[in-house]
Amino acid sequence: MYQSFIGLEVHIHLLTKTKVFCGCRSAFGDEPNTNVCPVCMGYPGVLPSLNIEAMRMGCMVARALNCTIPEKTWFERKQYFYPDMTKNYQISQFASPLGQRGYADIEGRNGTRTIKKRVRIKECHLEEDAGKMIHTGTVSLLDYNRAGVSLLEIVTEPDMETGEEAELFIQQLRRTVRYLGVCDGNMEEGSLRADANVSINLPGRGLGKKVEIKNLNSSRFVRLGLNYEIARQGELLDAGKAVTQETRLWNENRDETQPMRQKENAQDYRYFPEPDLPVFSPDPEFLKSVEEGLVELPLPRAKRLRDEYGLSEEQADLVCEEKAQADYFEEAVAAAVERGLPRGDAAGRIVKWLLQDIKHILGREGIETRNIASFKAGPARLASLVALNAGGKVSGKNARQALEAALDEDKDPELVIRERGWELISDPARIALAVQEVYSAEKPVFAELRAAAENGGLPAKRRQTLTAFLVGKVLAATGGRADPKIAGSQIEALIRGQ
Ligand code: ADP
Ligand code: ZN
Ligand code: MG
Repeated sequence: MYQSFIGLEVHIHLLTKTKVFCGCRSAFGDEPNTNVCPVCMGYPGVLPSLNIEAMRMGCMVARALNCTIPEKTWFERKQYFYPDMTKNYQISQFASPLGQRGYADIEGRNGTRTIKKRVRIKECHLEEDAGKMIHTGTVSLLDYNRAGVSLLEIVTEPDMETGEEAELFIQQLRRTVRYLGVCDGNMEEGSLRADANVSINLPGRGLGKKVEIKNLNSSRFVRLGLNYEIARQGELLDAGKAVTQETRLWNENRDETQPMRQKENAQDYRYFPEPDLPVFSPDPEFLKSVEEGLVELPLPRAKRLRDEYGLSEEQADLVCEEKAQADYFEEAVAAAVERGLPRGDAAGRIVKWLLQDIKHILGREGIETRNIASFKAGPARLASLVALNAGGKVSGKNARQALEAALDEDKDPELVIRERGWELISDPARIALAVQEVYSAEKPVFAELRAAAENGGLPAKRRQTLTAFLVGKVLAATGGRADPKIAGSQIEALIRGQ
């Protein structure tokens, strides 16, 4: 058996309105080459200036990953040639990146594995993205809209050991940056991209020869690519061969990695300090704005929801998938508590509504979970329904109907219930009328039950089925509004001949 080492380099597009060193619009999907200017195209004599919002967002991620923000941080030019980069150098950070030496705790289940691990973060650095090359058979097209877009690179130490751990790391990082509101985390559009580095070695021998896998545009491919690579390298070593240090690409059609280029030594980028940008020394006011941007992160929040509200691990994890949903949940519980429900009871009911009925409606209406704040049945409305249902004022079925009607009419469901007369009938005299009606119509059933009650000759199952049938008839006779508990006990009394 070999020991394996995985380190990730994750690039995220920061959600700044403009690019990192010029005023061009930063957006995905615009008409190609419309968001460009002499600065991001690197014309001679132009001067970049730092987008402070990019620095702030980058520092927020750094802090969320427990990194230190140095007293002085600056930029370097990383020099290489590629057609997607007209300047022939990329402004990046090298000697003193904005975030240094942190860690992220990953925790959860992935497939059959339970994972709990601390991954050290080497650094977070701010840089500009390059343009996009689109290869179309014989020619390649260039779109420079992406050139100069704020990019934050997060580099981990090689602390992960399996594809599953790396996948979980990416998923949790994605949630984290979305919670912070600094990145949309869309891997298909390339706003979160990962390169994975992996080596294996005999236990105790330390790091092996590393292979870098590029082109991983989903967290699943990160897992598949790494596990493929660990197996491939293991076979090489088993056969007495050496692993070549190289860059490989994940081929998603063939489910394998393929060689892209060999990288004997680290490339010499001839980094040197960017002469056109001053050293950035974060002042107390800037640092305060960074701290103010921080929010409770998904993992601790899920833990808190378990402890405070008694949610199961799975429920807490699902609720915390999106910050907006966790916010909705907590607001709805608070509103239900205000209406007198005990917190645990309110939470248990609300989480079920949220993960079943509301999830279903959101899906049907094409509302993404992260936009749940724009859903017409807000937390207060859900709380009123839940409180009515818990207090025996409306049946579960009518509560669901009321939610649908409330959405159609954009009203408080409580009002809908009152207007339509959907409140549960709990007046025994009114229910007795319906029970009498059912009694006249279903005499043979009553007779069977009564005879059985006298000589005990009916199996419990059959007795339950018949009673439920009669309660159902009473409900039907009252438009689903009779309190089933009261109806049930009146039927029992009739059977016993009282
Ligand atoms: P490079 O200079 O080739 O970019 P870095 O030292 O910057 O290498 O590391 C890049 C990533 O590769 C980091 O995430 C790091 O943890 C990981 N890494 C470095 N060496 C190894 C190795 N031998 N095995 C696995 N991962 C490694
Ligand atoms: Zn520009
Ligand atoms: Mg590197």
